[in-house]
Amino acid sequence: MRSLVTGGCGFIGSHLSEQLLELGHEVVILDNLACGREENIETFVDHPRLIFIKADIVARSEIVSAFEGVDWVFHLAGIADIVPSIERPDAYFQTNVMGTLNVLQCARETGVKRLVYAASSSSYGIPDRYPTPESSPLQPQYPYALTKSMGEDLVLHWAQVYKLPSISLRLFNVYGPRSRTTGAYGAVFGVFLAQKLNGKPYTVVGDGTQTRDFTYVTDVADAFIHAAKSSINGEAMNVGSGHHYSINRLVELLGGEVVYIPKRPGEPDCTFADTTKIARLLGWGPKVPFEVGVQKMLDRIDKWSDAPVWDPDSIRQATSTWFKCLGA
Ligand code: UDP
Repeated sequence: MRSLVTGGCGFIGSHLSEQLLELGHEVVILDNLACGREENIETFVDHPRLIFIKADIVARSEIVSAFEGVDWVFHLAGIADIVPSIERPDAYFQTNVMGTLNVLQCARETGVKRLVYAASSSSYGIPDRYPTPESSPLQPQYPYALTKSMGEDLVLHWAQVYKLPSISLRLFNVYGPRSRTTGAYGAVFGVFLAQKLNGKPYTVVGDGTQTRDFTYVTDVADAFIHAAKSSINGEAMNVGSGHHYSINRLVELLGGEVVYIPKRPGEPDCTFADTTKIARLLGWGPKVPFEVGVQKMLDRIDKWSDAPVWDPDSIRQATSTWFKCLGA
């Protein structure tokens, strides 16, 4: 079996590539290293069944040959983060939408057997139902969420019209080793771990009672493999932990002082996936409890030694566009 992982040098893609190698697959990683890092694959880059191709999904002619002879395509390449997506929507549209179109067309042309797409729970916006089922309306609040939702639309449409066997996985707050440490102000784990390492208080948004469905990265990689193995086609499914945890609980597990910063416009008070569908259709369920996952992150806290250390002032500056565009 040969698998292609777009974004294979990224946080989730690198864990997925590793699991596919363990399954005995030949793995082709396609990554332009804009967000992904070679360091993420350094422990297995010399594996005899691994091929790494540095290329951009936006350039179809550069990537099509990588799809030859591929059985399963996992499409995780994309750009994330809220603020840069508001500031540079063109780039997000190019990569997350046009890039997805290119991947789908290459997959069709070369006759791949299955395609699994990494969609985002952020596309639900502020849901009105918890746990949130797949039937809830998608209401993106900012361009990143919109482009991920458009990518999913393309994938499901290609499944319908061109019978390209595909599943879209809507990922909820994925965390774990290799999550991004540099770049724009981003996911809470990276922010808090760098603050802890530097003896700074955690910047808790609002009163910290908001909750997130934190899902451990190896469980997410496992969900992708379950999706590829199944014969179900043209469905979107949530991938979540089955629980939701408050930011105050995360602080309690990490230990340390806090400082409070303003609530951010457009963000939900809760994310919590209804995972009934994926359990029923794919037989997938999460395995890593939150407390265990947080401890694994703490065991590797030295990885955050070069990460930016955010404080209320620098966060206010970094999120000014966010407040300006999404605020009342
Ligand atoms: N959060 C926080 N302090 C920070 C960054 C995030 O308290 O410096 C909170 C944020 O309010 C949210 C949760 O952590 O409730 C997860 O935020 P993240 O940006 O990681 O994910 P998202 O909001 O997209 O679910």
